[in-house]
Amino acid sequence: MFRIVLVVIFILVSLGCSLNRTSLPNIILISIDTLRADHLGCYGYYRNTSPCLDSLAASGTIFMRCQAQAPHTTPAHASIWTGLSVISHGAGYHKGSDYGLDPDLPTIATVLKEKGYNTIGIVNVSILNNDFGFSSGFDYYSWHENGEGRAGIAFNEYLKWLDENVGNPDPVFALIHLYDVHGPYNPPPPYDRTFTTGGSEGITDWQTDPVSGALLNPEEKDHLIDLYDGEISWVDSQLSRLFSELRQRGLAENTLIIVVADHGEEFLEHRGWGHSHAVWQEMLHVPMIISGPGIPVGAVDVLPSGQFDILPTIADYLEITLENPLDGVSLLDSTARTEYRIIPSSRVSPDKCFRWGLEQYEGLIAVLSGNTKAMINYGIEEPGVMFSLGNDPEEMDSLTLDPHMAEALDQYWTTPPVGCPSVLDAESVNAVLKDLGYVR
Ligand SMILES: [Zn+2]
Repeated sequence: MFRIVLVVIFILVSLGCSLNRTSLPNIILISIDTLRADHLGCYGYYRNTSPCLDSLAASGTIFMRCQAQAPHTTPAHASIWTGLSVISHGAGYHKGSDYGLDPDLPTIATVLKEKGYNTIGIVNVSILNNDFGFSSGFDYYSWHENGEGRAGIAFNEYLKWLDENVGNPDPVFALIHLYDVHGPYNPPPPYDRTFTTGGSEGITDWQTDPVSGALLNPEEKDHLIDLYDGEISWVDSQLSRLFSELRQRGLAENTLIIVVADHGEEFLEHRGWGHSHAVWQEMLHVPMIISGPGIPVGAVDVLPSGQFDILPTIADYLEITLENPLDGVSLLDSTARTEYRIIPSSRVSPDKCFRWGLEQYEGLIAVLSGNTKAMINYGIEEPGVMFSLGNDPEEMDSLTLDPHMAEALDQYWTTPPVGCPSVLDAESVNAVLKDLGYVR
């Protein structure tokens, strides 16, 4: 890190007072699917994959220990949308049925629409579409089939909306989901060559035996990582273009920008690849950067945080009182955040996920408290284990679960659900998931 690392304890009293309430800021929330934190320069990566995001972090606050609430797209985004843990909101896969986001749950979009915002949603994967309940509260919501929109097209769609609504006096909330970094890794030229060193031409995804699902060519790992990094570099270039376009329109000064990922990606660290099948840190440690009016500049926040903190943070930032209690807390509230706050994650995902034959991983959950992380697969691999991330960040040496962490796991597992997520038609959902490569 080229900047001095500061432990930032936000004193939000001063932040709240610094906003000009007569001119509410525009807000852009960008979710970059499948983006590991540790593949960005601002999180210490050795490659220059992310100059724009590094610059954004330097202009605002970077959250070094953001923990995804799920290693899978639907439940993780539901946590971003609602400020709830996966077990609370219930979106995902449970006991043989798929559940979308309960359309009656308050979300960032419904809260900001109530505040007077125009609400724009642009997503790039089918499982965030209207059928899954993610469009609730949006004035404008468009979805593209599994990444076909690409980052550049998604940003152009947003800029087009801005240009067509220049006279609209209301602030704008835009949620833009990007699917480029998700496999298969096929960045557009020249980013397909930025980090590749030759060999393995034409290979853009993990090759598996069609019967066993076993990996055929693990030696291709480095090539796939090269392409994955190329995708990050491509998305970063488009972010740079977006921010330039906002500056040209005079909108940059009064825009709050939040960048997050839904989950990371495994590159055989624990013998798996891809995501959704486990709760290792390569799948749960995601980037989060916030920059904009009133946000501390050049600050490095090292307290644990989660995706479910985004809604309460936006509400706190805009001085909105939320009626229902959330699992997340405002990142701007120093009294609510502690080193030992429990940050839960769980894999609620199609049990027919073919990878590694993990049909029985529905009960797989993890909790983080300080530098201690515990995980268990209820009903399958009990008792659970824990890891000391300070000494063992790669989670190689499992420790015996202590009573405190066992209790934290049990408390999360028994969290009562909030609302009633709707069951989706299994046939249509499976068709979507098959297209995405999650089921055969
Ligand atoms: Zn995802």
